[in-house]
Amino acid sequence: MDDDDETATTATVPEELRTSVDELDERAVRTLVEYCRRRLDELHDPVSTHLEPQPGEEFVEVTEREAYTEVVKREPCAEGCSDCPHGPFLYHVTEERHPDGTTHLHWASLGPVEQ
Ligand SMILES: [Zn+2]
Repeated sequence: MDDDDETATTATVPEELRTSVDELDERAVRTLVEYCRRRLDELHDPVSTHLEPQPGEEFVEVTEREAYTEVVKREPCAEGCSDCPHGPFLYHVTEERHPDGTTHLHWASLGPVEQ
């Protein structure tokens, strides 16, 4: 199984790049890994591009922050009363990455927003 992993990695990393990386010492490789993480964040779509209001919801404001995406939205209650949608409420949305590579959005509720 480890052999398969290695084959997959060497097959996708261009040889020229691999040759350069193989010359680095441990400290330099760690620095490179950090660089790659930052670069990955730059290339990755911001969370706000994946957000859609659910039926009955209204997005008031969506703001990208450094560590999370701030969402202010109005939302309907379970009864669907005449005052719906309620709020607005503040959420901090973060993208959680699972070991298998899939991601899901975590909505942390911070309560109602003063208007
Ligand atoms: Zn309601």
